[in-house]
Amino acid sequence: MFAGGEGELTLTVRVRVSPEPDNGQAVLDLMRRYRDALNYSVRVIIANRALSLSKAHRLLYNDLKERYGLPSNIAVGCYREAIAIAKSWLRNPRRGNKPTARGLSMWLTHGLGYRVKGGYVELIGGYRLRIISYDRRYDDFPNREARLVFRDGEFTLYVFKRVPRPAKYAPKGVLAVDINERQIVVGNSSVEQRVETPIERALRYRRLAERLQGKYSSTRYNAWLRRSGIRRRVRYFYRKAKNIIEDWARRTSHTIISLAKQGQLAVAREDLTGLIESLRRLPKGHKSALLAFGYRRLAFWIDWQAEKNGVPLFVIEPAGTSSTCPRCGAELVEVGYRRLRCPRCGLEADRDSIAILNIERRALSQMGGSLTTPTAPQMTDVSPNRWGEPSAL
Ligand SMILES: [Zn+2]
Repeated sequence: MFAGGEGELTLTVRVRVSPEPDNGQAVLDLMRRYRDALNYSVRVIIANRALSLSKAHRLLYNDLKERYGLPSNIAVGCYREAIAIAKSWLRNPRRGNKPTARGLSMWLTHGLGYRVKGGYVELIGGYRLRIISYDRRYDDFPNREARLVFRDGEFTLYVFKRVPRPAKYAPKGVLAVDINERQIVVGNSSVEQRVETPIERALRYRRLAERLQGKYSSTRYNAWLRRSGIRRRVRYFYRKAKNIIEDWARRTSHTIISLAKQGQLAVAREDLTGLIESLRRLPKGHKSALLAFGYRRLAFWIDWQAEKNGVPLFVIEPAGTSSTCPRCGAELVEVGYRRLRCPRCGLEADRDSIAILNIERRALSQMGGSLTTPTAPQMTDVSPNRWGEPSAL
């Protein structure tokens, strides 16, 4: 519902805020009422298939104002968000239980729901939050919708901005990215660089969470302990594992895109959809869940950073990238641990280097074989506001 225009990107500026001492509790109360109102609205919208603004307004607006005590503009933001959640749930063929928001997160429309003024964020209804820190790089672009989030005792306002989509340069070559469980290999026929994945480190936290969960589900501990304190601790470990991967995906993609930009190269990554699907079909386990998450986040960040920096991007069909000879196309044979050899032309290399060369070759052929007059690169369709998806669900 907040997608950017043709020539624009939507990005998010993170603003750390802190409520004025006398209205911290009031802001939290408002956010709790918003969450309850949101869950109520989602149920009503789904039950009545009220996916248009006018239908949702008719069914919900008065309730949200009167029963939940939301200021009118926040009530409008609330049913709009509920429509988006209901739509994506209805679209999902594998949908399970009806979606329920648990975290505290509130949509605000700019100008009506909130405004930024003199070092403060003011919410409609007279709430004031002091700005602690924020990224000023996009100050020249007007603020749009925003999301106020309360997590781990801190308030953060995510402000959406639209910035012009940078033009893409004509690439002088390709930087290929091969992704596997242990490492990311970045390179082409002349350079190669390897980055370890943090899967093992993240797994340690998930195992800690599991162990804790197992230990305290024993009846030796009283019900209160089993429910509250430990559950919070377990959730903390799960989140920690995800954060490790998210940080790594963001940093690694930044390195890749900077390298490409420096050399005026296009970035080519494999299409990971099939890989993620096959992980999903495995028996549920820590590792496959974390890996699927890691692959998705890395692909997301690479695509997004490429868009933001005007780096041409290719998404390559992965079939056979690590089993055919990048020089002559023959089927390779294994001659050692992750080591492959071409029976026809004699090329011998490590599995990951082979993949890099194949990805590079496929991207080059998509570019029309000519680097000086490249055809328009086949872009993946990056949804620019994937950051804006309701994260609390
Ligand atoms: Zn060969």
